[in-house]
Amino acid sequence: MKQPKADWMPATLAAQAMGSVDATTRAIIPPIHPATTFQRDSDNQYRSGWSYTRYDNPTYQAAEELMTRLEGGADSMIFSSGMAAAVCTFTGLKPGDHVIVPQLMYWALRNWLTGPALDWGLEVTLVDMTDLAAVDAALQPNKTKLVWIETPANPLWRITDIAAVAKLAHEAGARVAVDSTCATPVLSRPIEHGADLVMHSATKYLNGHSDVLAGSLTTARCDGFWEKLKNLRPQIGGVPGPFEAWLLQRGMRTLFLRVRQASQSAAQIAAHFAEHPAIAEVLYPGLPDHPDHAIARRQMQGGFGGMLSLRLAGSSAEGGMKAAVDCAARVKLWKRATSLGGVESLIEHRASIEGPQSPVPRDLLRLSVGIEDPDDLIADLEAALV
Ligand SMILES: *Cc1c(COP(=O)(O)O)cnc(C)c1O
Repeated sequence: MKQPKADWMPATLAAQAMGSVDATTRAIIPPIHPATTFQRDSDNQYRSGWSYTRYDNPTYQAAEELMTRLEGGADSMIFSSGMAAAVCTFTGLKPGDHVIVPQLMYWALRNWLTGPALDWGLEVTLVDMTDLAAVDAALQPNKTKLVWIETPANPLWRITDIAAVAKLAHEAGARVAVDSTCATPVLSRPIEHGADLVMHSATKYLNGHSDVLAGSLTTARCDGFWEKLKNLRPQIGGVPGPFEAWLLQRGMRTLFLRVRQASQSAAQIAAHFAEHPAIAEVLYPGLPDHPDHAIARRQMQGGFGGMLSLRLAGSSAEGGMKAAVDCAARVKLWKRATSLGGVESLIEHRASIEGPQSPVPRDLLRLSVGIEDPDDLIADLEAALV
């Protein structure tokens, strides 16, 4: 692919899919290569660099090179899902290695880390990642190999100070990986704050249309650990199909517009419901009284994201839960569905989905704000709250 101008701004690189023009046809849109296999040279070599799609496919390049530029990293890989990217990272470690992960984080990954990861041989400590003293106390020099951060973190949208955690982790010889799915490279670039790896569920904002399952990893440097992960992806077969990879780069062309609109609308919705009598608390890092607002202002630029949660008022915990479930049942515009980061707004009562073991408050509704007119979104919630 033709090299893009080094000084183009991230939004320009995204809008133009790196500005590439196909060398043979002059097509301004990157091609799809559906081939699973590529012809060998007469001496059985693969001088084109491509052999079999489980190893790599040229269609992946457009999305991977863009992710590397947007995150300010050295290299990126896309995966079949966010979970494939995350599990690949953890299985790049060795049995007996210790990892520190947040108590409150994306549910499916917490389930893997507190189940199969232990059978596999990892030692896992869950900490409150916003409590630096707790992180420091959990670090075991030379044994802790990875600290996993999710920020803003599901579903209370607490913000972790990436630079502060990275300093502690690096002093103890551990890497730092950040699940930056909800921040997106539009609002936060973890590598600039000291992260070694950035992971995304590309299913969410990066693709943005709720029609592709994909994940990504970006590394700050091409070291031995990254080489190991590059070998692991084909070994576990965690690659996307070429069509998904193509749709992902297509979705990323509008990433900046979508994330800015979602952030603006989420801020408007958060401010609107902050003093609402039916709402006990609005959880949104953009609100001045959010416990991590100061860190969020330092670490995020141009907005605080499209995710927020509402805790519903009730005379008891039971009352708050009933109010939340009833509200989700009554909305008409918001869609009752899991996932996030699409152009359409979603609402979910997380506690009933996660079950009795879940640490999520029962009176909480998680909102993923899309790009609809925010006045329609507010009116629909208002009508559902009575
Ligand atoms: C959805 C999600 C994941 C998992 O990604 P999949 O693409 O569903 O595998 C991981 N982290 C966060 C924050 C997510 O929202």
